[in-house]
Order: sequence, then structure tokens, then C-alpha cells
Amino acid sequence: MEWTEDQVLALTDLWKKGITTAKIAAELGTTIGSITGKTSRLGLPRRPSPIKGFKRHAKRRVKLPKNAKKMFDLTDDQCRYPHNTPGDKDFHFCGKKIKPGSVYCPEHHRLCYSKIETRKMSDASIRYFQK
Ligand SMILES: [Zn+2]
Repeated sequence: MEWTEDQVLALTDLWKKGITTAKIAAELGTTIGSITGKTSRLGLPRRPSPIKGFKRHAKRRVKLPKNAKKMFDLTDDQCRYPHNTPGDKDFHFCGKKIKPGSVYCPEHHRLCYSKIETRKMSDASIRYFQK
């Protein structure tokens, strides 16, 4: 479709308000494909992925504690769970006492391994249904 300036403004506005692509398409009398094409040409920010919860968790910044550990401060019995983005000023490691047999403290061990266990479980259930 030919986009008028008003339609582009309306699209930009609705997009920024978080209105769904389908609703914007209906509002402007066009197709979803036309909306997504136009928003990418306009360079509008991409829509957050549906796996929001996980992303929000991953992005959550941890305040730099007083006794923050850098890689070379860590001894063998300290948790190596990284906080924040490597290279940033507030990047540090957890540094709590590790769970025996793990490189993480009990809390972070659970955090890291429960995800893997959940995946293993779903792989197993996929195999179950493929039989
Ligand atoms: Zn830890």
C-alpha cells in the first residue's frame, strides 16, 4: 500500500504504544505483512519476544556488592556465577561458598541446573510422543 504521512504517524504512535500488529493493521485498513514491512523500513524497535519473562530476568542488573569478586579474586571454593555483562564496570562473580561438587553456590547451582533438567525432561517427553 501507499503510506500517507498521517498513516505513518499513526503507525509509529500505535506501535510505540504496544498495540498488536493485527490491531494496527485493522486500524489502518491494511495487512499485518504491510505493517511489519513498514515498521522495519522505518527502523521502529522490534517487538519484545514472547519469552519476556526469561529475558527480563536475564537483563536484571545486580548491584555491585562491596565484596564483589572479579575473576582473579575467586578461589576454588567460591561461586563463579557471573552477574551483569562482561566488560561492564559492575560485572562481577557471586563469590559465595560453593556447593560441594559444583562451581556454583547452592542458589546458583539450582538456577543453572534446573533449566537443563527442565530441558532434559521436555526432550524426553518429545521422544515419548515420537514413539
Ligand atoms: Zn552464587
